[in-house]
Amino acid sequence: MDRRKFLKTTALSAAGVAAGGVLAPSAEAKTVTVRTRLDAKGFIKEPARKIAVIDSADVVIVGGGPAGFAAAVAASRQGCDVLLLERGYFLGGLFTGCDVTILNDMYTPTHSGRVQAVFGICDELCQRLEKHDMLAWLDTPPNVDTEATKYFMEEMCAEAGVRILYGVQASEVTMSGDRIDHVILETKSGRVAVKAGFVIDCSGDGDVLEWTGEDFKEYKYDISAMYRIGNVGTGKPGSITSNEGVFTGHLGDGVRGVDGLDIYTLTSAQLELRKRMWDKTWKLRQNPGDGKAFLLSTPSVVGVRITRVLNSVFNVTTEGAATGTSYDDVIGFTGGDSTLKWNGASIPRKDRKMWQIPYRSILPKKVHNLLVAGRCFGFEEELMYDAREVGTCLLTGQAAGTAAAQALAFRQSCRDIDIQLLQKTLRDNNVKLDW
Ligand SMILES: Cc1cc2nc3c(=O)[nH]c(=O)nc-3n(C[C@H](O)[C@H](O)[C@H](O)COP(=O)(O)OP(=O)(O)OC[C@H]3O[C@@H](n4cnc5c(N)ncnc54)[C@H](O)[C@@H]3O)c2cc1C
Repeated sequence: MDRRKFLKTTALSAAGVAAGGVLAPSAEAKTVTVRTRLDAKGFIKEPARKIAVIDSADVVIVGGGPAGFAAAVAASRQGCDVLLLERGYFLGGLFTGCDVTILNDMYTPTHSGRVQAVFGICDELCQRLEKHDMLAWLDTPPNVDTEATKYFMEEMCAEAGVRILYGVQASEVTMSGDRIDHVILETKSGRVAVKAGFVIDCSGDGDVLEWTGEDFKEYKYDISAMYRIGNVGTGKPGSITSNEGVFTGHLGDGVRGVDGLDIYTLTSAQLELRKRMWDKTWKLRQNPGDGKAFLLSTPSVVGVRITRVLNSVFNVTTEGAATGTSYDDVIGFTGGDSTLKWNGASIPRKDRKMWQIPYRSILPKKVHNLLVAGRCFGFEEELMYDAREVGTCLLTGQAAGTAAAQALAFRQSCRDIDIQLLQKTLRDNNVKLDW
C-alpha cells in the first residue's frame, strides 16, 4: 500500500514506523481441510493440484454487500491497494439484491423526529442518491432506489481506486500460523488464488471465520424477501419508493427458523418465497385500480438474515445497546429503529438511545490479519434484529477498512493498533464519534 498517503491522511508522517506493505508469508502455507454441513453419501479424494495465484492486494475483502463496499472504499482512501471479491455481479448484497431498500439504523427515531446516527460513507452514499432523486423518506429511514444504489456504490469504489472482481466465490484460505496468506476462489476462469496482506470478512455469513478456525456462533433464523411492485394504482402494497406507482413489498418473517447455510434449504426457501410474492401480486391485481400492477423485481439473492456471528474479543451487549454504554474504543454510533427487549422490559423505538459499536466487536480472537464487518460481526443474540441493519453494516465496514489500512501501514496485528489513531482517522473521514 501507499504508506505515504496513509501517513499523510493520518498526519503522522513523523511517527517513524517501519515500512508498511504486505507481510511476507512463511514458506510453508497450509490449506484448511474442506468440510461440509450436509450428509455425505460417500467421499472422493481430490487429487493434489497447483493453483495459480492470479492477483495480490494489501486488503482483500470477501463480499461486496454494504459492509464490503464501505470497507473497500475506506481502505482504498487510506492508500491501500484493495481487491473487493464478490460472487455476484453487483454491489450491495442483500440491500440491493434482495430489494431491501430501507436503510435502517442510519437515523434513530425520537419523539421529536429522526436524528442521524451514522455518518461517513453511509451519509455520502445517501447524499448521492438524494441529489439524483433516488431516495424517499419513510418515517425514520431513507428508502433507496436499489439500481441507483448499485450504480453509486460502483462509482464510489471507482473514485476511491478499489479493484472489484465479480463472479468469484471465495472458498478457502491458506494460512501461515495465525495469518492468512491467500484466498482461494472458484471462478468461471477456474480455481485460482489471490495473495492477501489483510482480509476483511464481509461475506455476511462469516465464511472466512470458519475457514480460519475463528470462534463464532451459528444461528437458524428466518429467510425472507422484499420485492418491488410497479404500476400500483390505488392500493398501498408496502412502503413508498422514490418512483411514482412503485412500492416495496415485504414477506415478513418468511420461512422461519431455518439453516441459511444449507443449499437444499436455501433452494426450497427461494422457491416458496417467489410463490408468495406472486400470490400477493395476483391478490393486489384484484383490487379495483390495481389491475395493471406487476411484480417489478424479485430478489436475485436469497434473503438470509443471520447465520454465523463472530465471537469477537468483545461482543456488543444488549445492555450496551439499551443504555447507550460508552466504549473507549468506539468506532461509531448507530440508531435503534426497533423495539428492544432488555431487563424484562420492552423499550419502544422512540425511547431508545443511539448505541455505540466498539472496535473489539469487529476483532476476532486469533487471526492477526482479519477483521469482520457487517451482519456477522460480534454482538449478543438479542441484538440480532438491530446489529445487521444496513446502517450498522456500512459503519462496521468503514471502520474495518480504516483499521486494516492502519494495521498494514504500521505492520501490526489488528489486535495491536493504536485505537486513538484509528478514531482520529475515522473522525477525519466524517464518522461521528462524539455527541
Ligand atoms: C428480507 C430481508 C429484509 C431486510 N430488511 C431490512 C431493512 O428494512 N432495513 C435494513 O437496514 N436491513 C434490512 N435487512 C438486513 C440487511 O439487508 C442485511 O443485514 C445487510 O445487507 C447485511 O450486509 P452485509 O454487507 O453484512 O452482508 P450481505 O448484504 O449479505 O452481503 C454479503 C455479500 O457477500 C457476498 N458473498 C458472500 N459469501 C461470499 C463468498 N464466499 N465469496 C464471495 N462473495 C461472497 C454476497 O454475494 C453478498 O453480496 C433485511 C434483510 C432481509 C434478508
